[in-house]
Amino acid sequence: MPYWQLSISALITLDNSSALISHLANFRKQNPDAKIGFVPTMGALHQGHISLIAKAKEENQLVVCSIFVNPTQFNDPKDLERYPRTAEADSKLLTENGCDILYFPSVSDIYPKGLNESFEMDFGGIDKVMEGAHRPGHFKGVAQVVDRFFQIVQPDRAYFGQKDFQQVAVIRQLVKEKNHSIEIVPCSTLRSAEGLALSSRNMLLSTEEKEQALIIYKTLLFGQKWIKETADLNNLKEKMTVFFKSGKLELEYLELANPENLQPVKSTDDPVHCFVAAFCGKVRLIDNMRLN
Ligand code: AMP
Repeated sequence: MPYWQLSISALITLDNSSALISHLANFRKQNPDAKIGFVPTMGALHQGHISLIAKAKEENQLVVCSIFVNPTQFNDPKDLERYPRTAEADSKLLTENGCDILYFPSVSDIYPKGLNESFEMDFGGIDKVMEGAHRPGHFKGVAQVVDRFFQIVQPDRAYFGQKDFQQVAVIRQLVKEKNHSIEIVPCSTLRSAEGLALSSRNMLLSTEEKEQALIIYKTLLFGQKWIKETADLNNLKEKMTVFFKSGKLELEYLELANPENLQPVKSTDDPVHCFVAAFCGKVRLIDNMRLN
């Protein structure tokens, strides 16, 4: 019987790349046909992350989750400082959900040459719009850390949430540019019963702020309903913006774009996807939804 069917789901936690590389090499040697699924995260895990772990478990024989709050993708040092860290609860949740390996590296394990180590790639313009335009250097940091993870873990499949829709596009571009032979599996967004997209940053919101943050979801539904009833895209961005501003959040951007190329969309004959970024107090939230 293969190794993975015998194993009871004890979580193995490894905090350095050499230990992980040798553990995975050993696993591959013993299980040449087994597939490895990888779920990179920044921790403060919630059911959204767990849905990725569950999908990875369904499709692979071994699941590796990483928890690393990557300094190079934070353009605001205060955001990095405030980012929630809940290692013990994360470990418990991963154990309960049958994750096999938790990779929990230090900054020096990921960046042995320091944080200024250069990383270059052609983003094909994805880094110039929406999240890319509003968070300079963010996608470069994301691509850099995921590239490093891909080199270390060399998974067969890697799982990413569509809550970070533009990030999935960046990762696909990374795979193409750096010739990683890894299947990228996009996973749908998990929401609270009221509709708030689950996010580690929600932990930083008060009950009242969580209520206020629902304006994001309500605005997306408003746009969806508008297109369904009128098939008209004229001034929809402005209408959605006015609707959004009836709430208490501070809007950073609201864009209607074609999900295939992230460029502005002109007609409802094309797919219309809405992307929103907004501040709820000091906490920056993003969400997105297909409208037609
Ligand atoms: P993070 O820890 O925020 O970097 O997220 C790690 C992964 O989980 C990313 O691929 C996210 O897109 C995904 N993720 C975060 N929130 C959700 C959610 N509500 N539903 C599904 N996936 C999510």
